[in-house]
Amino acid sequence: MQYAYSFEDGCEDRSLLGNKGANLVTMTRLGLPVPPGFVVSVEAWREYKHSGKLPAAEIEEALSSLEKRCGRKLGDLAVSVRSSAPVSMPGMMDTVLDVCERERVIEAVGTVFESWDNPRAVEYRRLNSIPADIGLAVVVQAMVFGNRDERSGTGVVFTRNPSSGERGLFGEYLPRALGEDLVSGRVTPQAIEALRARLPEAYRELEQVGQTLEKHFCDMQDIELTVESGRLYILQTRSGKRSGGAAVKMAVDMAKERLLSREDAILRVTPDDLRSMIHRHIEAPERFKPLTRGLNAAPGAATGVVVFDPQEAVVRAKKNEDTILVRPDTSPDDILGVSAAKGVLTSRGGLTSHAAIVTRAMGKPSICGASELKIDLKREQFEVNGQTVKKGAVITIDGNTGYVYLGALPLAEGETKPEFLQLMEWADGLRWIGIFGNADTAEAVAQARRFGADGIGLCRTERQFNSPQALAAIREFILAEGKEEMSRALGRLRQLQKDDFVSIFKALRGLPIVIRLLDLPLHEFLPRETQESDPRLRERLERLIEVNPMMGHRGVRLAITSPEVYRMQVEAILEAKREVEADVSIMVPQVITLQELLWVKGIAEGSGLKVGVMMETVRACMRAGKLAQVADFFSFGTNDLTQAVYSFSREDAEKKFLSTYLEKGILQDNPFQILDEKGVGRLMETAIDWARAEKPDLVIGVCGEHAGEPRSIGAFYRMGLDYVSCSAFRIPVAKLVAAQTSIKEKRAHRTRLKMITSRS
Ligand code: PEP
Ligand code: MG
Repeated sequence: MQYAYSFEDGCEDRSLLGNKGANLVTMTRLGLPVPPGFVVSVEAWREYKHSGKLPAAEIEEALSSLEKRCGRKLGDLAVSVRSSAPVSMPGMMDTVLDVCERERVIEAVGTVFESWDNPRAVEYRRLNSIPADIGLAVVVQAMVFGNRDERSGTGVVFTRNPSSGERGLFGEYLPRALGEDLVSGRVTPQAIEALRARLPEAYRELEQVGQTLEKHFCDMQDIELTVESGRLYILQTRSGKRSGGAAVKMAVDMAKERLLSREDAILRVTPDDLRSMIHRHIEAPERFKPLTRGLNAAPGAATGVVVFDPQEAVVRAKKNEDTILVRPDTSPDDILGVSAAKGVLTSRGGLTSHAAIVTRAMGKPSICGASELKIDLKREQFEVNGQTVKKGAVITIDGNTGYVYLGALPLAEGETKPEFLQLMEWADGLRWIGIFGNADTAEAVAQARRFGADGIGLCRTERQFNSPQALAAIREFILAEGKEEMSRALGRLRQLQKDDFVSIFKALRGLPIVIRLLDLPLHEFLPRETQESDPRLRERLERLIEVNPMMGHRGVRLAITSPEVYRMQVEAILEAKREVEADVSIMVPQVITLQELLWVKGIAEGSGLKVGVMMETVRACMRAGKLAQVADFFSFGTNDLTQAVYSFSREDAEKKFLSTYLEKGILQDNPFQILDEKGVGRLMETAIDWARAEKPDLVIGVCGEHAGEPRSIGAFYRMGLDYVSCSAFRIPVAKLVAAQTSIKEKRAHRTRLKMITSRS
């Protein structure tokens, strides 16, 4: 077994030499000015862990050939001994510098190996899920001195700007100093242009080195350099960390420079990169300690004063004051406050709660289910981890990550720059799954269109009852007694709905839309009966109370008992269509049986509207073949379907026990967030098989919250769904992931084919 590899003849295997070691080997091969050295491999670390022995003879042999290459003996020659892990663990392990004796080098290798298990490194691995057995190599390298004379110095450069992505060297230079002076932050360095002014030759050479490395690694590099008496040395290179915006710009630019293919450019960008580019975000959030964390329910970041009363958010907004509305949860009653606040923070509820759905549709940041918050509405304060935050205190919420911070943090605006549009155009050309938007208002439709949605896949009509008049009208309908009251209420609703549809159809500008007929969770729309002073209404409210409203008188069930509701909606759609032409389909929620679908088809007869089924009950999945015979399309409602498959209330599970399931590892993921492929996914696959056996060209999509979640999109692609429909702000990420999935599947397919052809 070989344990020591010189930079000249080492392999480039990262798992054996670590990142630093492998990159030094690569740079030496490329003929770049790297001080000579060798790597003591991960295998040596394994042996050391096992037997406590270091390969002393091999290290000594490598040292003597290093001396020969340098033409100097240790003593005249000093070496550095540094860690080189296969996964970046910056600053976690020990470094030994200036080693000048034969025995001290071996000792230093042992010291660095030992530091793999120091508490700092162990904690870092735990936090970043890095397995402990990947191990560690050690780099022993001839030292060069940036503090030798006036023509010496040290620096760190990126080959492109890591914040903006602009091409060209970006970094810092410290004349007459050692690398440690720069890293420690004790001295303020100058911009790298200082090197150009002092030593133009060395700067030019550095530019060339940067280009060579970018070309080789096809990525932006973060390079450590030292200049010793005018001579440039490169000590290290690695792929540089970058902001989301820079990642997008670099990927697009590199594809245009032909450093990357378009496909590789798409694979290079992560959903987080895209999210932080297009949404407002906290600048360098790692500098700040969060107060607590909840679910990242709607993207973006906001700062404002804490208010608990929705009405107060409205009053303060009129005075141009920014607020964060903090509530245990929200209901349609709070809608004006939600709309007036800059962001919403709730201690209860999950990703499908009222607050989450409404803020996502409004494009407003929100964090839901921050269960550590103890909210006291009477005293207008909340407590979290021993800290009390009162009304009027300033907080910042980051809906991209779910973190809550005390104080006003620096925020950076999201932008849709040309490189973003270019990336989306390439993604559109490479994906084949349709990306639709969920939108209930004209503004949300316009936003989905701006992000290039293929259509609107879910317009939840009950979410249009947000204004006080609309809320009053829907309550009047729910509480109506007798034909006269009912038809008066329906008349008002019809006018409101028609007006909404007209503005939505205008915003569509030719995009198709799927309008879901009413799926009223009654409890969300009614005042609490205890707050009602009118005894007649109180009595009516009491009669309407359901023990399990989410499994109660909602969806198509309401249309079976009161068909005039869906009739009113179909008429409102047709009236609006007469004013503004639109490609409209309707969709029936909560279907369990063919008879319900036929019933609604009867209501819509003659309307010319296509009628689809929301597949969100287990029975609908079991009867998929039968339903497919009559339905024009299917759309899986994975929020309700997950609720049904798990028998977990989507409203209560996240506030009560789900977090404990996740903490204890009983469940790996929150099934309301990430599609449960093994349970819900299998049920969907079965339903798809049965449906397509009846009607091979049936269009099938998904419109639950999972439709915008990166991992779940991969699963939907593999199931053969035609489209995913997610909230407008998730469309760019959905497009990116859809394209990435297509590319990966195509490549996997090619690899399989190659295996067959090479076998034959
Ligand atoms: C669903 O159940 O997945 C769905 C989209 O409908 P809603 O969330 O409105 O119940
Ligand atoms: Mg549903």
